[in-house]
Formats: sequence, structure tokens, C-alpha cells
Amino acid sequence: GHDRKRQKMRKSFPNGAAVNGVNGVSKAQHLQEQRAQLPIAQGLEALVREIAAHDVTIILGETGSGKTTQIPQYLLECGAFPGVIAVTQPRRVAATSLAARVSQEQGRPLGTLVGYAVRFDERTGAETRVKYLTDGMLVREMMSDPMLERYGVIVVDEAHERTLRTDLVLASLKKILRARNGEESGKGKARAHNPLKVVVMSATLDAEKFSKFFDNAPVLYVKGRQHPVSIYHTSTSQVDYVDAALRTFFQIHVDQPPGDVLIFLPGQEDIESLESSIKSYANQLPSNSVGVTLCPLYASLPNAQQSRVFTPTPEGTRKCILATNIAETSITIPGVKYVIDTGKQKEKRHLARMTGSGFDTLLTTDITKSSAMQRAGRAGREGPGFCFRLYTEEAFDAMALSSEPEVRRSSLTSALLQLRCIGHDLETLDFMDNPDAEAVGAALRTLWILDALDETKRLTKLGRSIAAFPLEPQLAAILLASVEHHCTADVISILSLMSASAPLFPDSSAQRDAASEARTKFRHPSGDHWTMLNVFRAYDEVCGSESKGGRRDWCKRNFVNERALREAGDIRTQLRIVCDRANINKEISCGQDESPVLKSLVRGLLQHTALLQPDGTYKQAMGPSIIKIHPGSFLTEKRSPAIVYNELVYTTHIYARGVSAVSKSFISDFPKRVTSGRAGS
Ligand code: ADP
Ligand code: MG
Repeated sequence: GHDRKRQKMRKSFPNGAAVNGVNGVSKAQHLQEQRAQLPIAQGLEALVREIAAHDVTIILGETGSGKTTQIPQYLLECGAFPGVIAVTQPRRVAATSLAARVSQEQGRPLGTLVGYAVRFDERTGAETRVKYLTDGMLVREMMSDPMLERYGVIVVDEAHERTLRTDLVLASLKKILRARNGEESGKGKARAHNPLKVVVMSATLDAEKFSKFFDNAPVLYVKGRQHPVSIYHTSTSQVDYVDAALRTFFQIHVDQPPGDVLIFLPGQEDIESLESSIKSYANQLPSNSVGVTLCPLYASLPNAQQSRVFTPTPEGTRKCILATNIAETSITIPGVKYVIDTGKQKEKRHLARMTGSGFDTLLTTDITKSSAMQRAGRAGREGPGFCFRLYTEEAFDAMALSSEPEVRRSSLTSALLQLRCIGHDLETLDFMDNPDAEAVGAALRTLWILDALDETKRLTKLGRSIAAFPLEPQLAAILLASVEHHCTADVISILSLMSASAPLFPDSSAQRDAASEARTKFRHPSGDHWTMLNVFRAYDEVCGSESKGGRRDWCKRNFVNERALREAGDIRTQLRIVCDRANINKEISCGQDESPVLKSLVRGLLQHTALLQPDGTYKQAMGPSIIKIHPGSFLTEKRSPAIVYNELVYTTHIYARGVSAVSKSFISDFPKRVTSGRAGS
């Protein structure tokens, strides 16, 4: 019976679906028609009137109704709001792709009237009036423009996600509003010449909390168009959700009528692994079957690949979008009829007590009920849809209602430093939810160890320099230490690789021997940092002499990830620009002398150092944990007296990953820190 079904499905794909340019309608006209058809279109004027009448407006609306793309354009077009309109997004891929869409709707090239700003990448110009930016970038801008004076309107979008940066923005805006608009408009105080409008947009029902936070600001509702979605749960719990997603996808693909499929997965690695299995199974289907168009979508997806999810599904294929929770509310993809929900997400957690450091760990956790409902809703935007949950109904019932705000579970180190630079105090700022006192303590301690704060918790000159870099304070401290040790060029390369989202050495267990043999030539006896640097140096040479294809071959042959190197190359360019601005000579290299780099690493990662114990394990120099060197490390001398590492991973043991052997004296150069750290932990 399979064949007949397949044929039926093939036939029922409509020929020439509504693609841009059909029936002689120009692309621009078509876009304007799409705009006019969005649910928000009717209510736009009323919304703008409300925004004009109040300092703060809360807008609650169903996903896909047109809030993020239309409201900023309307504010621009009505001419009543001078200054730049900022629209914040928790994720960079949302900021860049929404800016691209809105530019298109305005009929202007991206980066002119409409632009974006995300970490390591900005496209704006002197004439930019609508700027999509990550919440983190807006916090960064406050460091040079504390009152955000260049903005007339700030739209805090996706506020329900309650990221740490969004909470910082909201808390700061409360202060800024008071300063720019005056205490209360009723008290006869003259209106400021440059008043600020704040619009808070949320996709879930927590609007009252935002309203209360902003002195009972009005809440406006935008209705969406939601069709019914049939929800199915599994009868037993699934151990391997990637495999379950694979099977479910092919059941839909082979048996169900046309309609695109959206699969929610926790992160990039799972997306890549499912993508390659779907690809290989799809190739084994009979040649007359419907093809599969695969579209990955995650936060750090390269710009060039982003627009793929929005291009119409090629005729005779079914689109399969593999997304993280970014597709829950921030990005709406047309054409989705089937949703497969693994029930998992990646969540930032701060394990200060275990790691004794100021870094976050990304953990795969169960989603919340609110996320599960949003995910299911994505299937019903254009017609009745189906959602296949890869978990049981009992598991759904057991889910938390909504997640804890990030300010309660993530590291506060860089937030605290940034606030100090703006002149705000994390400890006294009025937050939607107050940060945990212990987490504040840990952040203060880390900043003190870095010398970013002095004994009285006051910001130091070094602290201000650290905050100028778009890096975690620890990594920025490494960069600044490299100036002293004359190895800035090398350290920038290492930090760029550490900041890239893709791993330099991808998992190649299938060809383990070939991979380890190929990589041997880069191996440095001191361990992973120098090995990474050796790869980057070799790649730089290849780039100087080889074509694009030659570079790709070289990476393949050496089992290194070209995407990581290219991404790191972009980050390095950005870091070099920041160095220029800070008058740091970015060209100085230490050649083959390894100590300067290792000393710099220890300076920033002092809380990530450990000392060898008699039994061959390592104990953190400033924390309680016993750790082992990760088996994947390039470190050859396994009994080096001291190590520095990038991160800890928790499996059966606590493993240090990204490890280099260092001299004990590099660590004891900071005796006061080490001792007091021990006592404090
Ligand atoms: P909301 O913010 O209310 O969730 P949006 O303004 O993001 O809604 O989306 C409105 C519409 O714009 C959706 O139908 C979505 O599919 C479409 N859209 C958004 N970005 C793009 C893009 N880059 N390309 C094509 N369509 C897009
Ligand atoms: Mg939106």
C-alpha cells in the first residue's frame, strides 16, 4: 500500500504555489499584500495611538500575528516617533533574519533604513531608523550611551523569554524612563525634549507582571489566527529522542498529505546529527518519492544559510525544518503543518558551587508546558495541523508551567561588570525578579579575582578595559594579559576559536585512527590551547596560498572543522578592531615560546586551574572539585603538576576540557587569590 500512498501524495502537491512573482504581481506588491493580510494589520493604528499616549505599553500577541515585523514599521511610517527605533531579540539569528525581512518590506537594502547589530556583526548606517539587535547588544550600547539617547522607541521583544539581558534592559529602562521622561507626567514637570517610548512585547500570558513592573502600563492584545492542532503523545517514554524524531518524520513523510514539518530539538549537535540521518534515509527512498528539503535553524546559524527556511518549498518536495526553541516564538516559518516536539531544550545553568567559576554550562533539560504549547501552536498557523510529542502525556503533565527567569540561574559575572560600567548596581537595581544573593557573591568574587573590581567592589581601570571586549570577562582578561606577555596575536587566535560555536575538532569516531593520525602534526606537548593555535596558524598559511576548494580539502584531510575556523576568523577580525580602538598592538606574536600564552590563559582562568594530587587526579586550585583530564584532550604529559582548562563537563566523572599543562608557579604568582579563594569556597 505504500507505493499508492506515495503516488497520491506526489500528485497532490499543488503546481505553482503562491510564489513571488506569479500572475504578473511584482515582488514588492506581493510583500505589501502579505503585510496587509497579517492579523495585526487591522489594529495597527489603535496600537500606535496607545503607544503614543503612554510611556510604556505592553503588547501581548499570538506568534506570527505580525508584532515584530509590523509594529516597528508602523511606528516609523506614521512619523510621530523621532530617533531610532530599537527592537531587541534574545537571539542573534532572529535579529538578523527579521532585519532582512523588514528591509525587504521597506524595499531598501539591508543596513540602510533598517539594520541589525549582534555580537561580532553589525549592519547599520547613518540613515538607519529601525534597528534589530540582541538584548546583549543593547546592554553593551548602554555602556557608551547610558541614557540610550539615540533611540526614540525601544521595543523589548520576546520579553516572556526573560533572558538575563532582557531583564537587565527592563531594569535599566525603568531608570532611564525616569531620567528622560521625568518622574510623573502629571506633576507639572516639563516634558523632556527627548522622551523615550518603551514597548514590551510578549507571546505568553504573563503580561500582568510586566504591566505591574512598569507602574500598571496598559496591556494591549493582538489576536492571531490559530487553527486547531491535533496533539499526539507517545505511549512510552523515548530514550533516544533523535532516533524517535527520525522515525516520526518518515512516518509523516511517507504517509501524510503535503505540508512542511518542523522538528524541535535542543541544540546544534542534535540538529546536525538528525539532518545527516534524514539525508541518508531520504536518499534510499524510491527515486519517484517526494524529496526532502532540509533547513536547519539555530541561534548561531551563519547568515548565508538563514534565508533558506523562508524560501518557498521547492515543488515536489517536503520541507523539514530542524530548529531549536528559536522557532517557538521568535521566528515564524510559513507552510508548517506538522510539528515534532522532542520535549527537550538547552538551558543555561550556572554551577558556581561545583565549578567555582563564573561560567555557564548549557544543559539539555525538559521543556516547560508553556513551550510545549507554543511548539504545538506552530502547526496551526495556516490551517489545521498536527503535533507529535515524543513524550508521554504523563511527562507533559509533570512539566513545569514556565521556566525560571535566567537571572535566577545563570552566571552574573559579565552582567555585573557591565552594569558597573553604566554606573548601575546589580545589588540595588529594581529587577522583575531579583538575582540570587549567592550568584551575586560568586560574580563579585570572580571580578575581584580578575582585578576588575577592587577590595571595595569598585570598578578598576582594568575592569573598564575588560568590559570593552565583547567576551566573557575571563576571556577578555586573558586578552589583556597577553599585552603584558607580548603574545596578543596568538591569544586572539585562541580566544576566537574558543568563542566559535562549532568545535574545531569534530567528533570523528567513525574514522578515529585516521583522524588522530592526521591531527598528530598539530599536537603540542603543552596541550589543547597550543594545539588549537597550531591548527589556526597552519590554516592561515593555507588560506594565503590555496583556493576555496583547496582549503576545504585541507580541512577534510586534517579532520578539522572548516566552519569553526571560518567563524573564528570572523571573530578574530572583530577582536582586532576592538584592539585597535583600545590602542593594543594586535600583531605581536611570541613565536614558538609557549609560556607567554599559558601565563595569559592562567590570568583569566585562575578559577579554572587545578593541581596534581598524589593519586594522579587533579584538585581545583580555587574550588573543591576533583577533576580528570578529558580523554579527548591533546595533553600528552598526563601528570603535569598543574593544568588550566576551558570548561568542566559532568558525566560519570568531572572532566576538564580544553586543557593545557602549566607551571605551578604561574598559579602561585597570585597567592593571595588562591588562598582566599579556598577559604571562601
Ligand atoms: P510575531 O512577532 O507576531 O510573532 P512576525 O512579525 O515575526 O510575527 O511575523 C509576521 C509574518 O512575517 C509571519 O508570517 C512570518 O512568517 C513572516 N516573516 C518573518 N520573517 C520573515 C522572513 N525573513 N522571510 C519571510 N517571511 C518572514
Ligand atoms: Mg515576534
